[in-house]
Amino acid sequence: MLVAGNWKSNKSFNEAKEFANAFAAMPAAPAGVEVMIAPPAPYLAAMGEAQLPFRLGAQNVSATGPGAFTGEFTAEMLAGSGVQDVIVGHSERRDGFGDDDKVVAEKVSRVLDAGLRVIFCCGESLQDRQTDVHFDKVLRQLESAVLHLPAEAMDRVVVAYEPIWAIGTGLTASEDQAQEMHAAIRGWLREAFDEATAKSIPLLYGGSCKPANADQLFACEDVDGGLIGGAALDPDSFRALVEAAGRVSEARQQAEAS
Ligand code: PEP
Repeated sequence: MLVAGNWKSNKSFNEAKEFANAFAAMPAAPAGVEVMIAPPAPYLAAMGEAQLPFRLGAQNVSATGPGAFTGEFTAEMLAGSGVQDVIVGHSERRDGFGDDDKVVAEKVSRVLDAGLRVIFCCGESLQDRQTDVHFDKVLRQLESAVLHLPAEAMDRVVVAYEPIWAIGTGLTASEDQAQEMHAAIRGWLREAFDEATAKSIPLLYGGSCKPANADQLFACEDVDGGLIGGAALDPDSFRALVEAAGRVSEARQQAEAS
């Protein structure tokens, strides 16, 4: 299970340090649970130097290599700053900052070429769902960013399904809605690559996931954790999500052993 927090453009540097200290004082994550936090980019290098009890993620990366690209930062720069994971294709970047499928595909490749893990986001709008094109939309996003990747890079790919209508809205996909889309994504990965690859890629759910609904969402068969926005800003609520993932992980391990 992977519980990944995306702070977006929130928190002062001092607040980020307070969160890190509070989270570090809590018990270690339960067995089988990985934790990641993606703070604002200006804090990455300092957080990369600190010994923090979570993987360090970036919320964005440049689609270019080094050069005359004012304001951009490359995947190699992130790697050199202690970043391990990079979120690519978040709907807020697709909708507001020109990250179309082509740019997203380029960013995914650059992250993997730099040796980092990518958290590739896909998801449909409310209109897509209402007009029943949500599966097509999500699978086309996957096709354009993931299909071309070499099989050997796939162990550094995480897919986050984030229905846009559920992000930051308080609306959450039902367990059935989350599970059926995750199963479709898993099925697509099986067809595009193979069974082992499809099984091993973590599929995260994102969209108003919080302590009150995490146990149910994480327990869905094809859900392997969450990409968390609002509920990742407070150490206690984020910790509660890590605990929820721990309960599901333990239940899965017991089921496998029996
Ligand atoms: C997100 O932005 O990836 C997200 C899931 O946000 P929230 O949890 O606030 O809906």
